[in-house]
Amino acid sequence: MIEHGPYYVGLDIGGTTIKSALINTAGEQVGAMVEVRSLVDEGYRLTFQQLEEAAKKLCDQAGIGPNDLGGVGLDVPAPSCDGVIWGKANLAQDWVGVNIREEFSRHIGLPVFLTNDGSAAAVGEYMLRPDYHGSLLFVAPGTGLAGGLILEGGAIYEGANGLSMEAGHISVPFMEEDGELPTCSCGWKGCLEAWVSLVALRRRVEIELGKDQWKDHPLNAEDSSIKEKAFKLRTLAEQGDELAIGIFKRQGYIFGYGLADMTRLLDPSLIVIGGGLAEAKFRDAYLDWILEGFKARVWPMYLKSPVEPAKVTTCFEWAIGGDAAAAIGMAHKARERFGGD
Ligand SMILES: [Zn+2]
Repeated sequence: MIEHGPYYVGLDIGGTTIKSALINTAGEQVGAMVEVRSLVDEGYRLTFQQLEEAAKKLCDQAGIGPNDLGGVGLDVPAPSCDGVIWGKANLAQDWVGVNIREEFSRHIGLPVFLTNDGSAAAVGEYMLRPDYHGSLLFVAPGTGLAGGLILEGGAIYEGANGLSMEAGHISVPFMEEDGELPTCSCGWKGCLEAWVSLVALRRRVEIELGKDQWKDHPLNAEDSSIKEKAFKLRTLAEQGDELAIGIFKRQGYIFGYGLADMTRLLDPSLIVIGGGLAEAKFRDAYLDWILEGFKARVWPMYLKSPVEPAKVTTCFEWAIGGDAAAAIGMAHKARERFGGD
């Protein structure tokens, strides 16, 4: 037993799949990421069975048994405080008010660390940069806009009530051409998420395709849904399509503007951008558009030191963990909490 020591499981609950990863006592990932179906909208008890199945598959893959596990890190796509789920988000109603950390610990017979999905991915990105020890702000546009903040040394900043880093819901001073503010998934208008999420992309492509300028655009001739058309924007942008580039350019600018406000508050030394765009072929151009918006809002000293010109004050990097980042981050958190070193 001593020769391989305890192992730690990271479990990342998403809306469609549960992703999981295993690390050994030295912090090295063992085997590949394992995915099982997510049943979050069918209740937490069914989800517990899925989580257990993922852990079992990881153990089988590594040739170890449940007794070799030292703890679990678990993230949920909802706000929580001290283990108790506070909001429904994409979950079934029965999750709310339950201490998932304690309940799942009882279910699986191991100590459990619990946080939200944005923080988990932020930890993953931190752990995948072993030589980096500064602060890290993680933001990932997708269906919404996930966020997470890691302090110098690796601690997650969750806020007093587990409600910090709702990065998508800061407001930005932009409006549509007709003077309207876009409606956000939270019900409010003008949130950053309403400009940079996939939903925003759908709204934007619909508005643009209605303009005279794009009446002959191939997307207008297509008999497909707005969702499908929005899905094609990335490929079109990669091919140099002007409509698609214009949409991403504006999105990047507003995203950068929002990141500037977050930077003024938090002064992170590294901003890591995740989500699908991290894998886009035009991501270098997209980062330039982000920086344009960022520079419009901050003083130059937020990018370069005024007294040490060689020092970059805020670095930008693309995420490197892909969709395994959160699971890997949670496995590391379990090792840190329950590893005894
Ligand atoms: Zn909002």
